[in-house]
Amino acid sequence: MADIIDGKIFAESLRAGIAAEVATLAFTPGLAVVLVGDDPASKVYVANKARQTVEVGMRSFEHRLPAETTQADLLALVQALNADAAVHGILVQLPLPKHLNTEAIIAAISPAKDVDGLTVTNAGLLANGLPGLVPCTPLGCILLLQDRLGDMTGLNAVVVGRSNLVGKPIAQLLLQQNCTVTIAHSKTRNLDQICKTADILIAAVGRSELIKGNWIKPGATVIDVGINRVPAAEPGKTKLVGDVAFSEAVQVAGIITPVPGGVGPMTIACLLRNALTAAKRIETTLEKE
Ligand code: NDP
Repeated sequence: MADIIDGKIFAESLRAGIAAEVATLAFTPGLAVVLVGDDPASKVYVANKARQTVEVGMRSFEHRLPAETTQADLLALVQALNADAAVHGILVQLPLPKHLNTEAIIAAISPAKDVDGLTVTNAGLLANGLPGLVPCTPLGCILLLQDRLGDMTGLNAVVVGRSNLVGKPIAQLLLQQNCTVTIAHSKTRNLDQICKTADILIAAVGRSELIKGNWIKPGATVIDVGINRVPAAEPGKTKLVGDVAFSEAVQVAGIITPVPGGVGPMTIACLLRNALTAAKRIETTLEKE
């Protein structure tokens, strides 16, 4: 049986460390979260982010805009937040309503305040191995891996999924850890055999239980990023499952993250960590000027 990582406990200790560091600062880091529209899941995420921001001693600025907000109005808000000295981090909750141009909105965020790590500048810094702001979920995955595995030099890592939000940045981070990295996607041939070569297998696909137990190398470390809502046994109820068939995989893997309770809780903790990183960099730059 694999060792099951408790992401909730790890995230709690990460938040405790962030709170301890915030308490020592001469300034208060501020994180602005922008929500456009009434998507129920996004509303829950934003409320959780705001609560946890305050719990670690940072200031939370919440901007809730109606679904019919125009591109110009949203851009104007992002620019105002870029210029606001009390705001060190800006997060625009995705997905945005369809009439808005997400790429243009993300591009408008100052890279120094881009705590989601989604701007082209931060993606480029990551690709070049330079310090920037790294997307939160990939950062969470790497922190879990570093905690469990320590030195990952020479290990074969397979990342299933190549999105800008998850797959690509995880692959970059694993490369920085000196792993030999393979990125798989929907056009990959013989996915099962490729997965079987992985000492570290990252599933970031969005297909419930795609990865079977017999795709996993015995003793491998399996990080399941997927969050898929599927019908539960009880009629009319649903449940969350990952991209990995957990009950099979747990028999084969050495270490595994469950869904829920694995990678998920790390995402907001890493957002707070990015806000702290951004705040320290911005304030240090201001001191030098
Ligand atoms: P995307 O839909 O943007 O990307 C999915 C990737 O999986 C694509 O690269 C796609 O390939 C690939 N893919 C799709 N089907 C297959 C298949 N059958 N075989 C191999 N590869 C396949 O999703 P995200 O990256 O945004 O998210 C991935 C998952 O992670 C989702 O379940 C999402 O809910 C979850 N997630 C969880 C977070 C957390 O906090 N834990 C945060 C963010 C996301 P191609 O490029 O060829 O289309």
